[in-house]
Amino acid sequence: MLNIGIIGYGGMGSYHHRELIKKEDGVQVVGVYDIKKDRLDAAKNAGLKTYESLEALLSDNVIDAVLIATPNDVHKELAICAMNNGKHVICEKPAMMSTKELDDVIKVSKETGQVLMVHQNRRWDNDFLIIQDMYRKKPIGELFQIESRVHGANGIPGDWRHLEKHGGGMLLDWGVHLLDQLLFMVDSPVKEVSADLSYVLGDEVDDGFIAYITFENGVKALVEVGTTNFVKLPRWYVKGLEGTAVIDDWDLSGKVVKQTGVIDHHNLVPIKAGQGLTKTMSPPSEDATTTLPIVEVEADYDGFYQNFHDVVENGAVPIVKNEEVRDVLALIERIFEVAK
Ligand code: NAD
Repeated sequence: MLNIGIIGYGGMGSYHHRELIKKEDGVQVVGVYDIKKDRLDAAKNAGLKTYESLEALLSDNVIDAVLIATPNDVHKELAICAMNNGKHVICEKPAMMSTKELDDVIKVSKETGQVLMVHQNRRWDNDFLIIQDMYRKKPIGELFQIESRVHGANGIPGDWRHLEKHGGGMLLDWGVHLLDQLLFMVDSPVKEVSADLSYVLGDEVDDGFIAYITFENGVKALVEVGTTNFVKLPRWYVKGLEGTAVIDDWDLSGKVVKQTGVIDHHNLVPIKAGQGLTKTMSPPSEDATTTLPIVEVEADYDGFYQNFHDVVENGAVPIVKNEEVRDVLALIERIFEVAK
């Protein structure tokens, strides 16, 4: 059994990780450290051991690994301190504030032999798994355009996410998830990047962004995070050489339209469009296409905690590799740079 100590018992530490770990074999939460007394009280009320200091948690031999779920600016010092005290580390995303910080932490992981694994949990999202499966198996041909968006209308939530010194802003918050999914899926180096960050809410950090990414294999992607979108665009819109797929939301509503017959370009029937007529924008004839529902697919890799357990206990290959996490952070740095 791997005993986990949670550092940072806020939204993610208490609700997500605590609940998730309860369902896992081979891992359990045994204790909590947080700088806030009310969060320690909450942990105590949930039946967990609490520690009054970081040192107290790290010197407890019962704990094998820590889970860092604090604001982003303290991930580095906590991860290094934990590994130097003989603990493995699960770190929340974004792993660090920069590639330089991550390099320092990876160095300590190598020196101490302690595992460092970043919680890129959205590699297991159902909507992502479906698009990843389409990318690999090509049911609508080679995907050449991938649009991945998340839209909300509530602005930047919480407190520290508004501040640059804590690693706030939407590129580091949601961007890191969407970019991680994209780089995990597309098996080609990034060639070109252009981007625009949004500051319409007047915060010192971005409240959203749009990035255009071209890969060396020719695939083009648009990644967008918005917090001022009262009407959402679809979570995914992807075009393949033989069709188009749309996933509207996390409920997996959407459809796949596949070309299954010949489109008669010479005998297109014009449709009325606004104050004019168009053949170009008329829908393809019904016998040229087939509309299919979105079908769920299973991940062909273990769950996050199961994999972490196997990496620590049996030397398994991590699903979230630190080099991949570094590539995503490097892409984020490039997006900040080109958006200037
Ligand atoms: P939060 O503000 O709800 O909780 C953070 C907690 O950390 C608070 O209780 C705070 O008191 C505590 N804390 C701050 N500094 C500390 C320190 N030095 N030592 C110990 N405790 C400290 O924030 P959150 O939404 O839970 O986010 C925490 C982390 O989880 C962030 O890195 C965030 O990006 C990440 N996160 C990941 C996901 C995901 O889907 N993977 C979702 C949400 C948040």
